[in-house]
Amino acid sequence: MFSSKTIGGRTFAFLAAFLLLIAVATAFLLVRSYSVYDIAGREAYSGIGTELISMHGCVVFYRWNNYTSGSEPEQEFSFVANSASSSMAARLRKEFGTETAPSWFQRRGFVAVAGALFGAGSSVVIVMVPDWFLVVVLMIPAASWYWRHRARRLRALKGSCISCGYDLRASSGRCPECGMAIPARSTKGSPVPVNQN
Ligand SMILES: [Zn+2]
Repeated sequence: MFSSKTIGGRTFAFLAAFLLLIAVATAFLLVRSYSVYDIAGREAYSGIGTELISMHGCVVFYRWNNYTSGSEPEQEFSFVANSASSSMAARLRKEFGTETAPSWFQRRGFVAVAGALFGAGSSVVIVMVPDWFLVVVLMIPAASWYWRHRARRLRALKGSCISCGYDLRASSGRCPECGMAIPARSTKGSPVPVNQN
């Protein structure tokens, strides 16, 4: 169905496919995040750390650092899956819940805050995005690839230039409109069975 010699690039197609895979994984996370809050991070026992949290339909990037001077303590990687009914999940809802946030965007899970939230000398960064938004954005390249590919295919079947849509039934060699080389098979009746709409 997607056999292709069209331009637009193999690289773009691979990238689009890769992002589509991440979109699928994010959709999985979206469903999972209502029953399990996952936390992947690298942190010390106190004062410094970086976490990626999946909770309640959102992904949260959370970075905190109280060591603005002096040497930072050793940090360790960790991954914890917390049940949504656990006390840890309740704590996360209290810290990152946005239901009563002041702005419309924040209440919908779009948050970006940075500053000395733990007092002078501390530094905190919180970036939060709803999973659905990530899924939509990650699918854009694959969707655009699909629609562009489909448009080209329909043009080729109609005997039009795949690049600009110019009617090539009376032309050969190159498209008089845009100079695109005309493939031999696109001039007259395609042997490929199609359901055109
Ligand atoms: Zn053309």
